[in-house]
Amino acid sequence: MLEVKNVSKSYGKTVVLHDVSFRVDPTEFVCLTGPSGAGKSTIINLLIGAEDATSGSIEIDGVELRKVPHPAMQLFRRKVGVVFQDVKLLRGRTVAENIAFPLEACGASDAIIKKRVGELLEQVGLSKKANMLPAALSGGEKTRVAIARATVHKPIILLADEPTGNIDPEQALKIMSLFKQIHLEKTTIILATHDSNLVDSLKTRVIRLEEGRIVRDSVGGYFDANGHKGTKEHPAHAGDAASKIKITSIGS
Ligand code: ADP
Repeated sequence: MLEVKNVSKSYGKTVVLHDVSFRVDPTEFVCLTGPSGAGKSTIINLLIGAEDATSGSIEIDGVELRKVPHPAMQLFRRKVGVVFQDVKLLRGRTVAENIAFPLEACGASDAIIKKRVGELLEQVGLSKKANMLPAALSGGEKTRVAIARATVHKPIILLADEPTGNIDPEQALKIMSLFKQIHLEKTTIILATHDSNLVDSLKTRVIRLEEGRIVRDSVGGYFDANGHKGTKEHPAHAGDAASKIKITSIGS
């Protein structure tokens, strides 16, 4: 359902992704980890079509991103929700209006907007703050609004780029429960984070990047494999001798 094939990305002469390949099946929950500068945000930007790969291809739901005709791109983008660390809320609009914005932009009726926004406010636990402006919210609450807005079109994939970067650990755990809940509703989640505690607590598939290369892809993985046993190489890469990416298999 999501396939990144031999993708490289350069800015001028600087190569920031080197021949990266991975596949994510429907309803998987994947943590994309690695130190700052490893290339996590670059991958997220490629997956939402905000940047083009220098070479290689990205397929989402069987369609190669590069081949989506421009007029159809807006519709295609609804399949992929995204949450950024800096949340990007509209400051002059209330919580409910921020969540409603993508629906308004595509001409949804007032009745549909009201129903969907009500559902999402409840899901993210902000029904009582529907009429507040973002400035009156905590960091964690702002992130929850951003998650509600990102899922307003019921995307098949939800991407999150360091969504807990600016919030305290307690709020971060709430955000993780929300992602788990959205995942249970059959949405694929790709969470880019350098937060080792979060990754270790999730025990999900972990794809680790270093210097623009995948160095590990493991199921039930930890942020840092050293010292941890029992993590298994992900089948998408297991025994894949043809893969040009270097995978460090651990504990198996
Ligand atoms: P991460 O999200 O893992 O911290 P990034 O994907 O943001 O890493 O960055 C990967 C590398 O690409 C870094 O060395 C960064 O400086 C570089 N980079 C990202 N965007 C640009 C850009 N627009 N121009 C030049 N270099 C960039």
